[in-house]
Amino acid sequence: MIDIDRPDIKFALNAVRQASQLVKMIQVKMVSPALTKDDRSPVTIADFASQALVACLLEREFPGDVLVAEEDASRLRPGLVDRAAQPLSALEQVTRFCERFIPGADPFTVCDWIDRGAAQPSRRFWVLDPIDGTMGFLRGDQYAVALALVVDGQVVIGVLGCPNLLIDGASAGTRLKPHLGGAGSLLLAVRGQGAWITPLDQPGQFEQVQVSQRADPAQARLLRSFESGHTNVDQIDDFAHALGIHAEPVRMDSQAKYAVLAAGGGEMLLRLLSASRPDYCEKIWDQAAGSLVVQEAGGTITDLDGKPLDFTAGRSLHNNRGILASNSLLHPAALQALRAVRA
Ligand code: AMP
Ligand code: MG
Repeated sequence: MIDIDRPDIKFALNAVRQASQLVKMIQVKMVSPALTKDDRSPVTIADFASQALVACLLEREFPGDVLVAEEDASRLRPGLVDRAAQPLSALEQVTRFCERFIPGADPFTVCDWIDRGAAQPSRRFWVLDPIDGTMGFLRGDQYAVALALVVDGQVVIGVLGCPNLLIDGASAGTRLKPHLGGAGSLLLAVRGQGAWITPLDQPGQFEQVQVSQRADPAQARLLRSFESGHTNVDQIDDFAHALGIHAEPVRMDSQAKYAVLAAGGGEMLLRLLSASRPDYCEKIWDQAAGSLVVQEAGGTITDLDGKPLDFTAGRSLHNNRGILASNSLLHPAALQALRAVRA
């Protein structure tokens, strides 16, 4: 069994669990009742609040540790100057939500916590996506809070909070049920110690997860981004055809896809380069936690050329091109098919 009382593991679990509860609360309060089609403000509020909370908890637990995170407070800071004129500024709302978890939180400190995430990667750093899959968050589909610890370029802890993902019998073969309003799932991976799942609201009940043992490429279940602009749909079709895959790819937002792959609910996960952004470099916060969850469940993750992910190249994976993750057994066939379709 994994040592969940080790201080770094304990911190990561606690931070992701609390941030997941916080963003879920924001989703229920702001997204569910009334959301005009283009209103992205709940995402903004939830992203900032989640990052502020994790950064605050990190400062209290490991004051000297570096945080690399997606957001910064530059768009919130004008609210510090003009609070009277804009009593319900975004900053005001972020602070109110943070106060529920950090009594006494004030707008100045909230901005400072958020900006702790502007650091550059160093020898040892934490990397956070406060809400991965913002489009899924808005749609009421899948999203994740993703936190990882990277030491000497290796991800050593990965935690995913997936508030809308319920994986029934994950360790026994998987029945996957994206589930709105349920407890959601928490995935923990520790290098060399496996990948584990527990309900978000029941911290003690960890079960080990394992990738599926399907070895026939034609039987593979593909996982891909929900957003077509984040991948290349035509190439996915060609790829599936090259391997003789008949099943429709599962479209899902966020690193919840990595949780599903790790728990045996799919065999291959593709992040192909979209035609509109062929130069796109993956961000480290979109990959770090999920990559360890997949590896520790017995899976393999590389870029589209089969190269290991290089977490020493800054805030993006500048030395990699796209992503291929699999249950390991199907990785060689997948790489061959990618070459065949020139992805
Ligand atoms: P997904 O949930 O699979 O759609 O992935 C969400 C992540 O894709 C976001 O966190 C973005 O950082 C990232 N992203 C944004 N633009 C692109 C793009 N053009 N290609 C691939 N990923 C992108
Ligand atoms: Mg993201």
